[in-house]
Amino acid sequence: MEYTNKTVLVTGAAGFLGSHVCDRLLEQGAHVIGVDSLITGRKENLSSALSRTTFTFIEADCSTSPRSYLPATVKPDVIFHLASPASPPIYQQFPIDTYLVNALGTHQLLQYLLTENRQGRFIFASTSEVYGDPKERPQKESYWGNVNPNGVRSCYDESKRFGEMVCGVHSRDFGLDVRIVRIFNTYGPRMSPLDGRVIPNFMMQALKNEPLTIYGDGTQTRSFCYVDDLIRGILLLGSTDSAKNETVNIGSPTEKTVNELAEMIQAATHATGEYVYKPLPSDDPTQRLPDISKAVSLLGWKLEIDFPTGLEKTLEYFKTQV
Ligand code: UDP
Repeated sequence: MEYTNKTVLVTGAAGFLGSHVCDRLLEQGAHVIGVDSLITGRKENLSSALSRTTFTFIEADCSTSPRSYLPATVKPDVIFHLASPASPPIYQQFPIDTYLVNALGTHQLLQYLLTENRQGRFIFASTSEVYGDPKERPQKESYWGNVNPNGVRSCYDESKRFGEMVCGVHSRDFGLDVRIVRIFNTYGPRMSPLDGRVIPNFMMQALKNEPLTIYGDGTQTRSFCYVDDLIRGILLLGSTDSAKNETVNIGSPTEKTVNELAEMIQAATHATGEYVYKPLPSDDPTQRLPDISKAVSLLGWKLEIDFPTGLEKTLEYFKTQV
């Protein structure tokens, strides 16, 4: 399937990932309806999209039924459900909005497709957080995870898991075309400087010559994917006909400790500030490394941007945010 001339609904359109998804879809000739409540999304992320006649922005809460915000004449061919706070400190600040948009929002969108638009294709943005603090390494899609059902991160982790269950019910039991992408740590331009995740924090601190805040002893690992690579993977999942009802990890297969990341960012910025060690937040996963073999074989996806190049591009953006 091509996106050209397709009508595509993107929830979370003003967010870091959502805005890049909108831009790439518009470049491919789609008519895009972007919806965002703007609790964490930023309209400035859409400045390029808003200049196009093929883009419509609607400010609405995506945990409500799309009947309440979509014009009745609009029947999306594809829905990307990306709306959700995604940074740990921010989703913990908005726990109810977070669990509602991932749980009830996913239900509302799929019920809308089931009752009014059965041909529509649905892509749910899930997360590596469904693996919790994983006991397997790397994490394959078949791994069920190790998640605290009632901890500070559960409003996000468990609602994404619930959202995946809702996707499963609507594909298995009701025959809808549903795809799940499990997104691993991603970075790049348009992340909010106040986002609170590790790369925005370290870059803003380094640019201001402040000490970098390392949580815990910094030996925990993450695998960081540059945003353009991730967006290409998400769009391929939506356009590849054989990916119907599949769940696919998208992320970088190169693992780094937080200490290594801090050193790389210090070197890239020529910062001389020290490191300051702070307590590890509770339930902070000790490791994350995706097995991406399914994305490679099913979607023909591959990474194109190496980490130093991605960091450099991201740094150029954060320099404009200081
Ligand atoms: N982290 C850190 N300093 C910061 C922000 C985060 O050391 O200023 C750590 C955090 O504890 C975690 C890792 O960096 O181990 C990645 O955190 P982030 O919030 O970016 O995303 P997560 O993968 O935990 O959802």
